[in-house]
Amino acid sequence: MLPFKLIYSDEYYLPIGQHVFPAEKYRRVHRQLIESGIADRSDFVTPQPASDQDILLVHTPHYVEKLKAGTLSAREEMQLEIPYSPELVHAFWLAAGGSILAAQHALKNGVALNIGGGFHHAFPDHGEGFCMINDVAVAIRRMQRDSKIRTAMTIDCDVHHGNGTAAIFAGTRTVSEPLPSSGPAGLGRKPLMRGTHAGDVFTISLHQENNYPAQKPPSSIDIDLPDGITDDDYLAWLDNALSSGLRQFTPDLLCYIAGADPYREDQLGGLALTIEGLKRRDELVFRVAKAQSVPVMVTYAGGYARKVEDTVTIHCNTVEAAGEVFAPRPSLP
Ligand SMILES: [Zn+2]
Repeated sequence: MLPFKLIYSDEYYLPIGQHVFPAEKYRRVHRQLIESGIADRSDFVTPQPASDQDILLVHTPHYVEKLKAGTLSAREEMQLEIPYSPELVHAFWLAAGGSILAAQHALKNGVALNIGGGFHHAFPDHGEGFCMINDVAVAIRRMQRDSKIRTAMTIDCDVHHGNGTAAIFAGTRTVSEPLPSSGPAGLGRKPLMRGTHAGDVFTISLHQENNYPAQKPPSSIDIDLPDGITDDDYLAWLDNALSSGLRQFTPDLLCYIAGADPYREDQLGGLALTIEGLKRRDELVFRVAKAQSVPVMVTYAGGYARKVEDTVTIHCNTVEAAGEVFAPRPSLP
């Protein structure tokens, strides 16, 4: 049994038919986690859909109304890049509920994983790039509303820039609290790292520069990676970004968006990480979170490997990595 919880529902499946997004990956990850012995059935908890009130902490009433009434325009549905249905709306409300539950369990146990979510391309007033609702942003705002946390940091390792998350938290400064005193001075001089300021949520995105989305609204730290970057360089940049972020900002919760698409066999990505490199990436994030005593919640985001089983393995490895860092086996005498 794992010393942390995995949040999962069979209803995470996205009813989008034949699509480059392998909607069946959630069920396959769930099955493989159990069959491989990485997790027990008792490690899983089932989420409830987020309430409309939760969704409205991030999204505009007009957008939420359109989703519920099924009145997106053809252009809006095209931008979403997945076919609208009321069942799809349910799946996104459920993913957001799953991320809320993951945040709650992470605050209790130090770490928790949502076996879904990570829909980082959703903006307050529209969805795009297969993302309807920004579940991570909803979870952060809900934890803040419940006074469970004051600050949060997102570390987005999907191959695509976290544009929705960056836009949602851009320039959000708490009114009652002073701004962080240490600014991101010096970051701008590094070739790949861009930095702006942070308010109560500090956003970090490591992504392939030459990829969707064309417009990348500034995160607190953006690492614009060149095409074809391999394991060691990627891990050095991740280490760099995490240490830089944590020098500037003290989060009450770390939200790790563990996209499987920096993988070298990904159909929508142009980086060249191996499956082993991606597991080392997960371990690095978990080790840093543990060393700094920051609770970490995980979401899965994208993964479009030519072979779906590779995406499934990468996602399962994230759970295994969490197990190795947070429940290390006792060393032999
Ligand atoms: Zn992606």
